[in-house]
Amino acid sequence: MFDLKERVAIVTGGNGGIGLGMARGLASAGAQVVVAARDATKSKTAVADLEARGGRALAVEVDVTDEAAVTDLFRVTVERCGRLDILVNNAGTNIRKPPQDYTTEEWRRVIDTNLTSAFICARAAYPCMKAVGGGKIINIGSMMSIFGGWFAAPYGSSKGGIVQLTRSLAVAWARDNIQVNAVLPGWIDTALTRRARAEVPGLHENILARTPVRRWGDIDDMAGIAVFLAAPASDFVTGTAIPVDGGYSIQS
Ligand code: NDP
Repeated sequence: MFDLKERVAIVTGGNGGIGLGMARGLASAGAQVVVAARDATKSKTAVADLEARGGRALAVEVDVTDEAAVTDLFRVTVERCGRLDILVNNAGTNIRKPPQDYTTEEWRRVIDTNLTSAFICARAAYPCMKAVGGGKIINIGSMMSIFGGWFAAPYGSSKGGIVQLTRSLAVAWARDNIQVNAVLPGWIDTALTRRARAEVPGLHENILARTPVRRWGDIDDMAGIAVFLAAPASDFVTGTAIPVDGGYSIQS
């Protein structure tokens, strides 16, 4: 039910944070993982991390906002690994400020990195997955897919969009045996949220107080949901948005 041997997965932004946590899960279940991100040194370290845990992995340098580079990523993956079964659209960024202070370029940078990239990667994955009789796409949303934040106008828009993109792809590709789901992480300790804690006064304490389990998430908290949504265990699960948040989203 949870066996991913013979499966090949691309994890965008798989060289650190939540992407690495998910890549660890997929690799531990037997998948070969393609770590797809910009920083080649970080990706090399992530591949070593996965291999040290007994996994199979390789790195492909890609900027997910560059359509031609994304096309190459999928071509290289199929050339080197023989197939593609799983895509995790995880690469993401944020710029935090009040809505009235964003330039249009900043707005586009966040939307392109977080949302448009997920669409162009999914579109590139579709023929690869059809060729092997199906596949699994996991899109990373956020608590900002549900809630608003004063510092998150483009980020929240991108993460709300991720949920609707997930539903549209899930409906469109259900008969191709491609399941598309979103994961909405709560507050996970990563480079992204370390920056957020530095920039938003009181954020750390507010999150601890609001999260019923009374801790921040660790990147390894994201491994299990990745395996579930990538494996045959979830074959009848599609179009959902599953919070993995220590209860943050159900606290009154
Ligand atoms: P990190 O900053 O630790 O990781 C972001 C990853 O995305 C890096 O691997 C980075 O690699 C990659 N990336 C960024 N821009 C690009 C790009 N243009 N092309 C390719 N790769 C890119 O952040 P997190 O692990 O925290 O975030 C991962 C995802 O999870 C994001 O989508 C984020 O919005 C989401 N998320 C995070 C939460 C948290 O609490 N941490 C909560 C909810 C959602 P490189 O720089 O090498 O390209």
